[in-house]
Amino acid sequence: MREIKQIRELKATIGGWRARGESIGLVPTMGNLHDGHLSLVREAANRVNRIVVSIFVNPLQFAPGTDYDQYPRTLKDDCALLEPLGVDLLFIPDAVLMYPKPLADLTKVVVPDWSTTLCGEFRPGHFEGVTTVVAKLFNLVHPDVAIFGEKDFQQLRIIQRMVEDLNMPVQVIGCPTLRETDGLAMSSRNQYLSDELRSKAAALFRILEEIKSGVMQGDTNFAGIEADGMKSLKKAGFRPDYVSIRDQDLQAATLDSKHLRVFAAAWMGKARLIDNIAIR
Ligand code: AMP
Repeated sequence: MREIKQIRELKATIGGWRARGESIGLVPTMGNLHDGHLSLVREAANRVNRIVVSIFVNPLQFAPGTDYDQYPRTLKDDCALLEPLGVDLLFIPDAVLMYPKPLADLTKVVVPDWSTTLCGEFRPGHFEGVTTVVAKLFNLVHPDVAIFGEKDFQQLRIIQRMVEDLNMPVQVIGCPTLRETDGLAMSSRNQYLSDELRSKAAALFRILEEIKSGVMQGDTNFAGIEADGMKSLKKAGFRPDYVSIRDQDLQAATLDSKHLRVFAAAWMGKARLIDNIAIR
């Protein structure tokens, strides 16, 4: 696995692969890797000749005063996890390389509407930061395939929409959420939880499962279900941002909706946890 920090070296390596007609898969991450991330790398391995993983804690997607500085950076451990999976190239740019100009002066990519709902409502500018960095990574790596997790389903759909709207020549694939044994979705932010809060946090998945069963049994009072979900989260010790039943295009559920999912974001102590599951 080559660890590359400079654009010139990145382009030379990728250019060599392209010249030989090899296909390339990209797995963008912020590092502090867990099995969820590794499942994306395995999916890439099934689809392409060359795997590129990027590790970049993207300042553009963190609002001031949030966890950018505390976000766990564990490069040595991450390399040890990636090497055995056959990753060809680990791209680890620093913030000055990605953003040589002040962030305020940067050209940005914005997917309207979908970026300002659900998590976008509570984290203004977050998805603009995500789409901008992912567009830059696509332009640097030119992947045939890029792999993202359904854990961040809103992010996955926003990136698919960016690719469609801007005719980017990359196929964006979503992979299922990997969970701990008690159901909590794996996440780097789970580390912010004390043992006590960690055991409480599993209630998030359980409440999503309860909502799913209600809808599967024919309850169509979506607003009522969402309000009850908020109450259940509060009772379980969370400070919920939202519980929302949406379709694949992040539109509010109606009686005619297809492919519903239930989405939630909630704070447990210092950790903002998000999760979603398909209702089917
Ligand atoms: P992050 O490092 O948090 O930016 O995540 C990098 C990629 O890993 C994103 O596409 C996430 O959706 C995905 N991911 C994070 N957690 C999980 C998980 N528990 N299962 C599957 N994919 C995940």
